[in-house]
Amino acid sequence: MNILHKITIFIFIYFSSTNAFPNFFPNVSSIPPSFLPNTTAGAWDSFNKLSGCRPGQNVTGISKLKNYFHYFGYITNTTGNFTDDFDDDLESAVKNYQRNFNLNATGELDESTVQQILKPRCGVADIVNGTSTMNSGKSSSMIKHTVAHYSFFPGRPRWPARQSDLTYAFEPRNQLSDDVKRVFASAFSRWSEWTPLTFTETSNYFAADLKIGFYSGDHGDGEAFDGVLGTLAHAFAPPAGLLHLDIAETWITGNVIASGSPSAMDLESVAVHEIGHVLGLGHSSVEDAIMFPTIPSGVRKVELDRDDIEGIQVLYGTNPDNNSTTGPSFGGREISGVTRGSSLLFHILFLGVGLTLFML
Ligand SMILES: [Zn+2]
Ligand SMILES: [Zn+2]
Repeated sequence: MNILHKITIFIFIYFSSTNAFPNFFPNVSSIPPSFLPNTTAGAWDSFNKLSGCRPGQNVTGISKLKNYFHYFGYITNTTGNFTDDFDDDLESAVKNYQRNFNLNATGELDESTVQQILKPRCGVADIVNGTSTMNSGKSSSMIKHTVAHYSFFPGRPRWPARQSDLTYAFEPRNQLSDDVKRVFASAFSRWSEWTPLTFTETSNYFAADLKIGFYSGDHGDGEAFDGVLGTLAHAFAPPAGLLHLDIAETWITGNVIASGSPSAMDLESVAVHEIGHVLGLGHSSVEDAIMFPTIPSGVRKVELDRDDIEGIQVLYGTNPDNNSTTGPSFGGREISGVTRGSSLLFHILFLGVGLTLFML
């Protein structure tokens, strides 16, 4: 592929996303009333009516749920369109999902399972090739009677030791305010506190190690966003360095509270989670962990859990300036369906074009 071809594709991707301006609000009460009616229908609300469904039934909407489980890695053997039959594949998917999310593995769509499925979440898959990775049940060698659930991407990619001072930049078209940038700076500090890594903002988007952007719908990497709620964000394993957030969400940059908009999402909470991915962590089944896949609206969760710290320190070691760190040396299991073929191709292409443009 010649440079002209690369640049043509890059320009297509660059201009294919029309809405480049996310909605940020310092708190829920600052959201204008005219905005709220647009934010009450979540992408997965239709799953509510599947509560009580059991294997063997045929119910309208099951096919959409199968797409959901396929997207997150729970159904792999797809040959085309899904039917509305509650078949063996779906039962197996539901059981694996229930295990990963610490629910009773009944294989039925009981109310607690459906309510978990409905929660907004990260778009990164939980499973690859039928191997569950979130709830791996590893025994921690450091703490008795606790279990580590952190996970890594297949092959355990990480940023090389010579690259421990990482730069990050924001998608220029988003025109993010200093307030929003401060949220990300705070999110990065949660990880640098426990590792030798440092994070510095740069204005050179193409040269930055980590590229952060808000996008709408299909934005060129094969992982389309789905509007309000549903998937909130996704990120890619090292060394891709791409961290994408759904432009359609109601992002709160200040104090998120549990009343008001039913779709208000705390930006820093989601940012801390996605930074975990760009550093090499997969999902965890520890509900208090930052790397747990779901987060309800109106909730703020920004502190790293012990599980997150143990996982990231397996990859990078401890922060030499932080006396409270310990150095667990036990390993985690590898995941996950994150590196889908089409996405990988896009990111290789994207990085290639970015590098080319940077060097021109
Ligand atoms: Zn995630
Ligand atoms: Zn993306």
